[in-house]
Amino acid sequence: MPSYPDILLHIDGKWRPARSGKSIPVVDPATEEAIGTVAWAEVADLDEALVAAQKGFEIWRRTSSFDRGKIMRAAAALLRQRADDIAWLMTREQGKPLGQSKGEILSAADIIDWFAEEGRRAYGQIIPPRAPNVTQMTVKVPVGPVAAFTPWNFPINQVVRKLSAALTTGCSIIVKAPEETPASPAELIRCFVDAGVPDGVVNLIYGVPAQISQYLISHPVIRKMSFTGSTPVGKSLASLAGLHMKRATMELGGHAPVIVTEDADVDEAVAVMAGSKYRNAGQVCVSPTRFLVQERVADRFIDGFTAASQAIKVGNGLDAATDMGPLANERRIPAIERLIVDAVEQGGRLTTGGHRIGNRGYFFEPTVLADVPRSAAIMNDEPFGPVAIINRYSDLDEAIDEANRLPFGLAAYAFTGSQKQSDRIAAEIESGMISINHLGLALPEVPFGGIKDSGYGTEGGSEAIDAYLETRFVTRKSA
Ligand code: NAD
Repeated sequence: MPSYPDILLHIDGKWRPARSGKSIPVVDPATEEAIGTVAWAEVADLDEALVAAQKGFEIWRRTSSFDRGKIMRAAAALLRQRADDIAWLMTREQGKPLGQSKGEILSAADIIDWFAEEGRRAYGQIIPPRAPNVTQMTVKVPVGPVAAFTPWNFPINQVVRKLSAALTTGCSIIVKAPEETPASPAELIRCFVDAGVPDGVVNLIYGVPAQISQYLISHPVIRKMSFTGSTPVGKSLASLAGLHMKRATMELGGHAPVIVTEDADVDEAVAVMAGSKYRNAGQVCVSPTRFLVQERVADRFIDGFTAASQAIKVGNGLDAATDMGPLANERRIPAIERLIVDAVEQGGRLTTGGHRIGNRGYFFEPTVLADVPRSAAIMNDEPFGPVAIINRYSDLDEAIDEANRLPFGLAAYAFTGSQKQSDRIAAEIESGMISINHLGLALPEVPFGGIKDSGYGTEGGSEAIDAYLETRFVTRKSA
């Protein structure tokens, strides 16, 4: 069995402690044991990372996209080779079952491969001129050094999309990875370092998120920032980016509606959505959350979902029998409990779960709330945990109104047997992504991002690299 390491910073090609020598403990959410430490960057480290990122950018932007792609594919191959060991680290620090950790790592390797190719298609245009001896063209150039801020729910996936888009376009990057789950993103970075990415191109830091984001986003070296996390933090960072005229991609919170019409395959909807709900203990920005089920099939759906929730085996993610691990950090327990108590006080029915399990490890019961009034906080705030809310509707207008009521617009789902209803749902739901009658989100080649308060920009699909590129116009008259 591997051991959990003390995690260092990676700056200018070197793994090293913080200049101050400071580090903080990393806690296993299944046992509450301190399992290692993570180095804590302060201004001296940030300044070195900024100098390195500028130097790395000068090298990397002059490296052809063909050669950048080769190094990226070598990193993806290393990630696949090391997947078992890295999965163990991820499960220890984050809690998710080993199979989910390994799946996240293998899908990260696919993301790297996809972006490695996509950078070779950063095409410009030749624009018809008004005079015969004039050539007009656009060229795509990398925006510059990037600062990326990523959360603890998918320690590798959240980094790899930003990192791959930056690297394939010729940008250097400073990744501020999650302090709660630092080892697995460090191993991702190690794959790139070992694959031969030049010094300074990829830098990795941890520390006080607010201090680091304030310093980096306002620093002139950084030309673009990308953030994944909650909407309030995203809004404040977007304002800062705006103040300093920095490009920004924002992947923020959601409160995904799921419409189930009476002619849907209800059993299939229950099976697919219960699997999705409890993946990563519900700590997923696209997690299905507000189920809107047509009256005639609502009780059947509630009973089926409740039974499926009760069948979920909660335990240490290292145990092969575990379906759902602990929450990733202690602060989520009171936050989720508060939402559940409030929902019940306001008349919602708890059909299963609702409580922490035991008093060691941050385990929480798979939870179903039914018939919850709109005024309950959980109908408005993202629960970000293993809680499903199932309400009824009578006609599709009502369901669409409810789905669109919140300021969020990240993911949405629907199950329906009717083409007409499916067309209406696809057209009228206000969300960046909608998946109908199956689970089909988050592949590298499809867009991944939100609208409204869920943010802007995409981290997947052919448009994902645009955020890392500037378009320059060149017009030339032949001599
Ligand atoms: P939080 O809002 O304190 O932090 C969310 C993430 O943002 C963390 O990774 C944190 O380190 C980072 N962060 C916080 N302030 C920052 C700042 N000023 N600058 C840069 N980074 C900053 O909440 P939390 O308790 O860690 O997580 C709970 C909430 O966060 C959830 O309700 C959910 O909405 C959101 N979240 C969303 C995602 C996602 O995938 N979109 C992932 C994790 C958390």
